[in-house]
Amino acid sequence: STILVTGATGFIAGQVIADLLNHGHKVLGTVRQLSKASKLQEAFPEAHKSGKLTFATLSDVRSQDELKAIFASHPEIAVVMHTASPFFYNSEDVVKDLLEPALEGTRSVLQVTQDAGHNVHKVVLTSSVASMLDPFRNKDPSYVATEATWNPVTWDQAAESNNAELAYVASKTFAEQEAWKFVESTKPRFSLTTVNPAAVFGPHATKIDPKALNTSSDVINSLALDTKPGDTPGDFAFLWVDVRNVARAHTLAIDSKLDDKRLLLCNGKFAAQDLVDILNKNFSDIRGTIAEGTPGNGPRVAAQYFNYDNSNTRQLLDLQWIGLEQSIVDFTKQYEAAKSES
Ligand code: NDP
Repeated sequence: STILVTGATGFIAGQVIADLLNHGHKVLGTVRQLSKASKLQEAFPEAHKSGKLTFATLSDVRSQDELKAIFASHPEIAVVMHTASPFFYNSEDVVKDLLEPALEGTRSVLQVTQDAGHNVHKVVLTSSVASMLDPFRNKDPSYVATEATWNPVTWDQAAESNNAELAYVASKTFAEQEAWKFVESTKPRFSLTTVNPAAVFGPHATKIDPKALNTSSDVINSLALDTKPGDTPGDFAFLWVDVRNVARAHTLAIDSKLDDKRLLLCNGKFAAQDLVDILNKNFSDIRGTIAEGTPGNGPRVAAQYFNYDNSNTRQLLDLQWIGLEQSIVDFTKQYEAAKSES
């Protein structure tokens, strides 16, 4: 069966495509311009040559005409994985840059899938833990994000904040709420599952461009790789998960036993100190060039931040959860190699 993956050029989408191809699926990826598909064609040469990985242009995720044309020429699409959504913080206009494309893009994808995707039985939406947390209680350990919790942020709070991080978590919340509302009111022929990852780390499936690093990989730079000896690692902690586990969850979500579920993909909390510790331990050429801080202090910092409980998701998904050290080391090896090549 053919799976439509929106935003194929993205960090998570690359590993989703890898997992889908490994499990025998055909993938049709949408890209904003066809030239952007070349890094995926290079990463998956066999699938590209055999026609198991093909591409279509979707210049903006809100473009209903382009989406309709994609379904018209690919009636074999059976599953839609909607990953495309703006994820960046350098915005002067959070409504235009973040809130609107996320919400309207999700609405367009669902509406056109219902109108024109005559053989689609499943939509998997890449949502986020952003829609499960409370951005006003980050440093409240009594707050527990679960598959049942919802971010209480309002549109006006986000729109008026001029705070792109708040607007991003809001954009994910409104997009996911829109999807569940659509299913409830339209009763479409497809069922919905959302994959809600924590901050996603780990290796890229495609070649890294160090000058255009995605937002979550760049967290490793800002909290650790870009620090200087003598710096104190920031008082920062959050939830995290490895991209390979997130990708597997997307493939597993096709199964009808996961219909109507919100899956919280998270394998723990991390603090800036934990990232610094992992880099100093594993990379002799990085040790001495970045902060040292107070080795081993990460869990004490993380304990001051909000918590999570994804035991529901762990029961539903048969995953081998990848640890933080492996996730950070696998990424950093790739990233350092990419930097020295460029
Ligand atoms: P990337 O920035 O690497 O990928 C985002 C993708 O969305 C890119 O393919 C981008 O296209 C596409 N996109 C963005 N805006 C538009 C638009 N208006 N029209 C068409 N395409 C668009 O981010 P990630 O891979 O990290 O994120 C993928 C998804 O996962 C997003 O929905 C994000 O919210 C979600 N997520 C990510 C987490 C993380 O920590 N990485 C955590 C939780 C959820 P282009 O390359 O052309 O810009």
